[in-house]
Amino acid sequence: MTGPAIAREDLASLLKWYVDNGIDETIGEEAIDRFAAPPPPAATSAPAPAIEGRNTAPTPIRPATPFPVRAPVPLESPQLVEDARELARRCVTIADLEAAIRAFEGCAIKRTAKHTVFADGVAGAPVMVVGEAPGADEDRLGKPFVGVSGQLMDRMFDAIGMSRERDLYITNILFWRPPGNRTPTLAEQAICLAFTRRHIELAKPKVLVLAGGTAAKAVLDTTEGIMRMRGKWTSVRLDDGSEVPTLPTFHPAYLLRTPASKRQSWLDLLALDKKLKELGVR
Ligand code: URA
Repeated sequence: MTGPAIAREDLASLLKWYVDNGIDETIGEEAIDRFAAPPPPAATSAPAPAIEGRNTAPTPIRPATPFPVRAPVPLESPQLVEDARELARRCVTIADLEAAIRAFEGCAIKRTAKHTVFADGVAGAPVMVVGEAPGADEDRLGKPFVGVSGQLMDRMFDAIGMSRERDLYITNILFWRPPGNRTPTLAEQAICLAFTRRHIELAKPKVLVLAGGTAAKAVLDTTEGIMRMRGKWTSVRLDDGSEVPTLPTFHPAYLLRTPASKRQSWLDLLALDKKLKELGVR
């Protein structure tokens, strides 16, 4: 290795600083030279050709929600959100969408992630679960909700006779792990949400379950907190005009930290089971 020698104590204190800041694992097999010239700006989609008969003006995303709608967020790169929306809009199958997301270079957290985490379960299943973002286990294995919180989620759905092998389709609003598991920025959420909304359109679930405050706020475009939203049915209106009954609920990671809240989540699961029966799905 070239470069100035670093004293052992300095290295130890640097490592401690990393751990204190939540950077607790290596994320690549090869070291990155951070002093090297930066790569050229990420390639995003070429300007989209106008699609005949379609109004290409940005569609304001407004779900049919009773919760307070949040003010539009000023983004550093609104073009990236538009690029993502246009790419997503052109996808006509879930396989197209997965390929578009895997090829997308407009979200910086992709560069620090090991895997793109797209979905798990059965595409087209009656229930689609949308969480926040992959954690370390999901990043390592390339599948959503496979760590301890995902295992709790599996056990909870199992209690009402549902499984990801048969009845669930699972994804996140983000497809890449934010470094150190930090909360995704609003810009990252807005970019990935463009794909997630199309994902919901293409998967056509009968019911959407939003796991945790970040996913619920992003998909419902609201400032309301999860404590008030959980257990209250609402709906999401998609850009193709369809509307999906939607249930915000606690994130399983929150339940691991606050087991007393499992009682409320159980009520949410019972409400989900009832809704599916009303819809004739079970
Ligand atoms: N938490 C999430 O929100 N999603 C995952 O996939 C894993 C943990």
